[in-house]
Amino acid sequence: VIHLEPAVVSAVGKRAILRRRDFHKYPELAWLEYRTASLVARHLRDCGFDLKLGQEVLRADARSGLPDQVELQHAYHKALEEGGDPEFLPLFKDGFTAVVGVLTGAQPGPTIAIRVDMDALPVPEAEVPGHAPHREGFRSCRNGVMHACGHDVHTAVGLGLAEVLAASREQLRGTVKLIFQPGEEGGRGAEPMVAAGVVDDVDCFIAMHIGLGLPSSTLYPVVEGWLASAKFDAHFQGQAAHAAFRPDEGKNALLAAAQAALGLHSISRHHAGSSRVNAGVLRAGTGRNVIADTALLQAEVRGANHEVQQFMENRSQEVIRGAAQLHGVDVEIKMVGRTTTAACDLPLAKHIAQAASRTEGLRVDLSPIIVGASEDATFFMRRVQERGGQATYVGFGTELAGGHHTPSFDIDEADIPKAIEALVRAVLELSHQVR
Ligand SMILES: [Zn+2]
Ligand SMILES: [Zn+2]
Repeated sequence: VIHLEPAVVSAVGKRAILRRRDFHKYPELAWLEYRTASLVARHLRDCGFDLKLGQEVLRADARSGLPDQVELQHAYHKALEEGGDPEFLPLFKDGFTAVVGVLTGAQPGPTIAIRVDMDALPVPEAEVPGHAPHREGFRSCRNGVMHACGHDVHTAVGLGLAEVLAASREQLRGTVKLIFQPGEEGGRGAEPMVAAGVVDDVDCFIAMHIGLGLPSSTLYPVVEGWLASAKFDAHFQGQAAHAAFRPDEGKNALLAAAQAALGLHSISRHHAGSSRVNAGVLRAGTGRNVIADTALLQAEVRGANHEVQQFMENRSQEVIRGAAQLHGVDVEIKMVGRTTTAACDLPLAKHIAQAASRTEGLRVDLSPIIVGASEDATFFMRRVQERGGQATYVGFGTELAGGHHTPSFDIDEADIPKAIEALVRAVLELSHQVR
């Protein structure tokens, strides 16, 4: 039977809330999580974890959707100025912002991995008295960037978990791997970590998310139905010309992109499962009286399974190329992010449910939750399952002040300590029960 010192758990919970506020104040977009990752590394090292960082845990050529060099460097210097850890920061340079902490238990046992994500979103944070981060002074200090999905909470929970596990090492069997992933938004960070072999030795894998519309102080160890997705940028290149004097000499990139956007939304539904499509950004042209020579279309497609996803990807490419051909312009399609589908392993979910239910004030419910969004943790889950391990995705309910990805998003911080305790119990009990 696992014994947790209540004083330790409660002190860790309080510190985790303060850390969450700090991460919330300094949100960082995908591949720019320099400050966050460096503080994570510092903390894990101080707790006695072995570290693997940066290029060791991210395969460079498997990364997609990277910001340009100017942005990468700007964010790096900001992190240096704003409290990032100077010892660890250089290891994350050029968008290698991932951390894996490894703790070995007192006796042999399974390898258990917990994955949390660290990135924020390009959402401007609410600046009204009703919004707690504003009222309490930890609103984002970065214009137009916000932790609007709770990944600040995930990072803080991961660090809290590290603290309690380090203090309970004599009760731990086997190995714990804490995975701090960059770039979940847009489906970018997981694939290169999987490609680097981060979960190749993992027996039990747990990903987590707070919120998701689940009721406060609940834990759902079976969250599934994640849609596969592909995100891509189509760059159209035409030919500029005077709109009145020589319109026939132009090749209209704007019309090609507009046609492509309409075409994407007319792709057929699929009998084998649900699908999604969205053309979210269209930028084109330079002047009113100029035939537009360039256009950028940012779009995504999703599917409930491989067959539907393949159909959506193939059709979207055909539509874009067809639209380009119609207008005689060139097009280059660049993949900038991807997610897949994955199912949860019920035996693992049941172990987690049993252990977590010993957390006071937390209600555990094994009914499956179908979110209908996408998650790149699915790549980790698949990899672990392909190699004979088990994986699941755990949802923690909390009272949300605003929806995910909106300026008023906020959680109930009282759920942070509960999430930490539940995960600690799950890890420690699993370490005794599995294998
Ligand atoms: Zn999100
Ligand atoms: Zn999220």
